[in-house]
Amino acid sequence: MLLKDIQTIFHNELDTENGANEVNSFFNILIKHYLSLNRITLVLEPNLTLTKKEEEPLFEALTRLKNKEPIQYIVGETEFYGLQFKVNEHTLIPRPETEELVEEIINTIILGGEIKPLKILDIGTGTGCIAISLAKTLKNAEVIAMDVSEEALKIAKENARLNDVNITCIQDNILNPNNSLAEIEFKFDVIVSNPPYVREVEKLEIKDNVLKHEPHLALFVPDDDPLKFYKAITAFAVDNLNDEGYLFFEINQYLGGEMKQLLADFNFKNIKVIKDVFGNDRITKALKP
Ligand code: GLN
Repeated sequence: MLLKDIQTIFHNELDTENGANEVNSFFNILIKHYLSLNRITLVLEPNLTLTKKEEEPLFEALTRLKNKEPIQYIVGETEFYGLQFKVNEHTLIPRPETEELVEEIINTIILGGEIKPLKILDIGTGTGCIAISLAKTLKNAEVIAMDVSEEALKIAKENARLNDVNITCIQDNILNPNNSLAEIEFKFDVIVSNPPYVREVEKLEIKDNVLKHEPHLALFVPDDDPLKFYKAITAFAVDNLNDEGYLFFEINQYLGGEMKQLLADFNFKNIKVIKDVFGNDRITKALKP
């Protein structure tokens, strides 16, 4: 079949749900991933014909896209902070807002002069996107990435290897730490986390591609205690940050005020709530008490 005819089928099947631009983007990602074809091929070689075998993964992907599966899970990878990351159903897909968090941490550290080798802990690392981008950029840093999910840690380790950085991965649950965290004998200069923060009441706002396919373990918190991870991590940070150490969070956009209060209750200093590019409260930055 002609490549451009397959593209037309994609538009016919998916445009109503996704819009033509997004469908073009899906198609370009798929032909690059499965056939190493550049999007420009569609223009330059209008008569390019695929064999049955070449068509197969495209039609399999179409079925999965119709089932609202994110394109990143279909191809098994995505880009974050200029790096490639493997993703699967055990990990959230890294978000652009989280790139802003990484940028904020890097700017803070670089402006601070980065005098000594920093020790950084990322709690709830998922794909490892935060830990690995920090390790890649801050060559002096020693980065520890923790997650409750063994499956997520497998992906984080693979991503560290693919991006050629050394990070230490540990399995633990910040709500109920076992020995792994306690065994760490030093304190940290930076603790960062993008923990689950979406309330059950907000499920209505969440699109099907997220709701049906991304791990709920990494997304949702109960309505009656939406900051439970933040409380546990902040308490941990009080004991495990060095003096002048920073605590960074990605936060629920509706809970900026509550987060500020929480950090103030634990006596953190210089508390800042920072907005993302969409103008939503998204990041907090605070200095150890
Ligand atoms: N920002 C993610 C979303 O909108 C949620 C990430 C999280 O819960 N930490 O789905």
